[in-house]
Amino acid sequence: MPVLALKRLPIAALATVLTAGGATLLSAISICIVIGTGPAQAEEHYEVNGKSVTAAVYQAGKILNDSVGLLQTNRNQEAVDMLLQAEQMAPDLAGVHLNLGLGLAKLGRSQEAVKELETARALDPNMPNVLLTLGGIYQSQGQVNNAINTYSDFVARFPQHKDAAKVQALVTGLKKEVADGVIHPEMMNANGTPSDNYLGELGSRAKRWPANKLPIKVCIRPGDNVPGYKPKYLAILQQAFNAWQEASQGNLSFTLVADPAQADLDCSFTNDPSGFRNQAEAGETNLFANSKGPVKGTIQILTVPLVAELPLTDNRIRFICLHEVGHAIGFGGHTSNPQDVMFYSSSVSDAFPHLSPRDANTVRMLYAQ
Ligand SMILES: [Zn+2]
Repeated sequence: MPVLALKRLPIAALATVLTAGGATLLSAISICIVIGTGPAQAEEHYEVNGKSVTAAVYQAGKILNDSVGLLQTNRNQEAVDMLLQAEQMAPDLAGVHLNLGLGLAKLGRSQEAVKELETARALDPNMPNVLLTLGGIYQSQGQVNNAINTYSDFVARFPQHKDAAKVQALVTGLKKEVADGVIHPEMMNANGTPSDNYLGELGSRAKRWPANKLPIKVCIRPGDNVPGYKPKYLAILQQAFNAWQEASQGNLSFTLVADPAQADLDCSFTNDPSGFRNQAEAGETNLFANSKGPVKGTIQILTVPLVAELPLTDNRIRFICLHEVGHAIGFGGHTSNPQDVMFYSSSVSDAFPHLSPRDANTVRMLYAQ
C-alpha cells in the first residue's frame, strides 16, 4: 500500500499589531480639583498629575480619561470628536494626542493618526504606549522599516516593560519576513499602481489544492469548552470559507463534514497560543502537501486577546478567519498591500473586513489554471 509522503508547507506568520486599542495603550491621568479651605482662598485650583494647571487643561484631562472607555468599547468616532476639543484646550498634553491618534487609526484614518502620535512622541518620548501604538500603525500601513525602528526604540527604552518580549518577537518576525523577501517595503512607497492580483508576488508560495480534492472537506469543531469562545465564531469561520468560495467564482469549493477524521481541513478554536510557531499570533494554519499540492491542513483560531487588556472584537475574529482560510487554500505567503486580507499584518482599524479585489482575483486565477 503506497504511503503518502506529506511534507509541511512553510506558511508565513501573520504579524499581529499588538497595539489595537486596549487599556494599556491608552493614556489616563490623575486629575483633581483642590478647593481652598482657608478663609482667604475660597477658590478652586486644578491639578493634573499633581501639577497645578488651568481650568482648560483640567477639562481636557477629564475628556482624556473619559475617552479611554469609549475607545475600549469601539465608540471611536465619539472619542475622536471629544479629543479634538481637548486638543484645542490643551495642545501640550501628550496623552490627548496619543488617544486621538489611536481613535483615528481605529477609524481607518491612518495618516492623521501618525501625525498625532508623532506629536505625542515629540512632547514626551518616554511614553511606552505612544511608541507601541505608533509602531502598530506603521506596521498596519505597510511601513515596515518605520515600524521596526519604532518598536526597537520601545524595546531599548523600556526593556523591563511587560510587553517588551512580545514586541521583540514582533521585531524579529518582521525582520525575518523582510529578509525572506516576504515583505517588500519599497513597494508601498512607490507611486505605481499595484498589480490586480498577487500570484506573481507569492510565486512558489501559492499552491493549489488538486482538482480531485475538491470540494475540500472542512470540519469546524465548536469551541464550546474553550475559554473566550462564542458560538457565533463558528458562523464567522464558515462565512470566511464562503467568502473565498464566492470570490473564486466556482473554481474552489468546500463542503462541511461533522467528523474530523473525514476532513481535509480540521478547524478548531483554542485559548492557548503556546503551541503556535510565533506566539504573537492570533491564529495558525498548517498545510501538508504531496507532489500534487496541498492535501491536508489544520486551522486554529485563538479565542482570547493576545494582550490581556485588548478586546477581541468580532471584526478581529472575522479578519483572522479570512486570513487563516487564505493560508489554508494555498497562500503560503503574505502581500505588501494593506488592503489585502493576505497582507502581512493585522490591522489597527476595527472595520468589517472584506476580501480585497486583489484577494478575489488571486484566488480565482489560482484555481482557474
Ligand atoms: Zn499569515
